[in-house]
Amino acid sequence: MSPSSRVSPILVRLAVLSLLLGMLVPSATVVRATQQPANREGWESARISDDLSVWSRTGAAVTADDFAAAYETELTTALEELLLFLRVDAIAQPIEIEIYDETDAYQAAVATTGRIELDDQIAIADPRNAVIRLPIDAFGSLTPLDAENQLRHALSHVVAGWATDFQIPRGFDEGLAQYVRRPNLPVQARMAALVQSALQNGTLASWAVLNSAGPNDDDATERAQSYAMVAYLIQHRGLPDLWAFFDEMKTAATWRDALDTALAPETSQQIERQWKENIPTWAAGEWRWNLMTGFDLEPARTQLARGNYAGAASALEISEQLLRDVDDPERAADVAALKDQARIGDLAENKMVEAQQALETFAYDRAAAAVAQANEQYAQLPPEVRPSDLIDTYTSMAATGLAALDHLEIAREQSGNWADYADTRALALAAGRDFAALGDTERRDDADHLVRSMDQEQLRIVLLLAALAVLAIGWLALRAKTRGPRPLRWD
Ligand SMILES: [Zn+2]
Repeated sequence: MSPSSRVSPILVRLAVLSLLLGMLVPSATVVRATQQPANREGWESARISDDLSVWSRTGAAVTADDFAAAYETELTTALEELLLFLRVDAIAQPIEIEIYDETDAYQAAVATTGRIELDDQIAIADPRNAVIRLPIDAFGSLTPLDAENQLRHALSHVVAGWATDFQIPRGFDEGLAQYVRRPNLPVQARMAALVQSALQNGTLASWAVLNSAGPNDDDATERAQSYAMVAYLIQHRGLPDLWAFFDEMKTAATWRDALDTALAPETSQQIERQWKENIPTWAAGEWRWNLMTGFDLEPARTQLARGNYAGAASALEISEQLLRDVDDPERAADVAALKDQARIGDLAENKMVEAQQALETFAYDRAAAAVAQANEQYAQLPPEVRPSDLIDTYTSMAATGLAALDHLEIAREQSGNWADYADTRALALAAGRDFAALGDTERRDDADHLVRSMDQEQLRIVLLLAALAVLAIGWLALRAKTRGPRPLRWD
């Protein structure tokens, strides 16, 4: 059989496979094409994704394209997180962001939705129609954080509408819309203080009041309490209970019935009482905890880049908790990898501390082993977090100490051998100098004693030899004197 006849069946199979693929790919493209925004008179659009598009008036200073380019990442990220957080599997319809450059047109459009928003919220959601409207002048003057939070807040109303079949009452809706904003600690701290003082003044609104259709007299306190209510449910009941509650709202007569069913055997009154009892704890610091922040892995990455492994591990705790409930395998893998880096970094750092402590107690072998282990761990981390200078210093100190120990030992062994006196003395002296440089005074003294005792021994021998020489000279002199000038004669 020739090589070409063996190859041909494989080629046939590949050709069939590519034909099959060719039949599949165009149909996917057709589905995408049908989701392009429709034309609208006097408006132009920019598509961000299948789920998001931006609309602006034709001829406006800020075009839909400009806005889409500026906020594409923020919008896409927020929508993805919200769908996961509220366990909404698919969007009900694509969301349209309408940007207005004329106040009148914006106000007229917003009025049609009948939505009563919080005072400073200018991106107004119309959840049933999946539209978000915003005045571009005012929006453009916001800080990047505030602008992003306006969008997150409005998107939250849309996704919460989908999650509850638009049955979510005002208190839970506004509480959640604030909860899913990016953390702004001064704002959150103020909310905690407002809720705490409402509790102390006896002006705390009930959940029934918070969830009534209209706003209260004090918008700031009401919004803070809505936030506290949602934060309590998420922190103390968990996401599965929140999902059950939202699911029940689709069919229950009232939100209270939905909560009673979702959290049975506990009742909504019991939960509300527990919330009230927990307010002092919440206001004392629990308010900082926000499960939504678990989506953001940047704080952990920043801590890792700074070499703050304990900080990175603690930043990841909230992500781990979030991902126990939320199905996001890709992010879970990222968290696992970051956690691994934090663990390795922590291990490497501990080994460096061990090396330092070993050097402080002049245990050079232990120091050498610890710094070698630290080096191995750091090799698995990004090179910029490796404390190269310190590793080099510790490695060289441990090596110097080990070599000096060796030299002193050899000097001790050779110290009885007078033929090697000069070499042995030089070895002991060098060891003493190295120990002195390492601050190892005890061993420096050992080396010093060895040199001194060798020198003394040498001196003793010199003196002994000198004494022998004196004796010899005396003996020679005596011999010369007594021998006499002529041979002895006995007879
Ligand atoms: Zn709102």
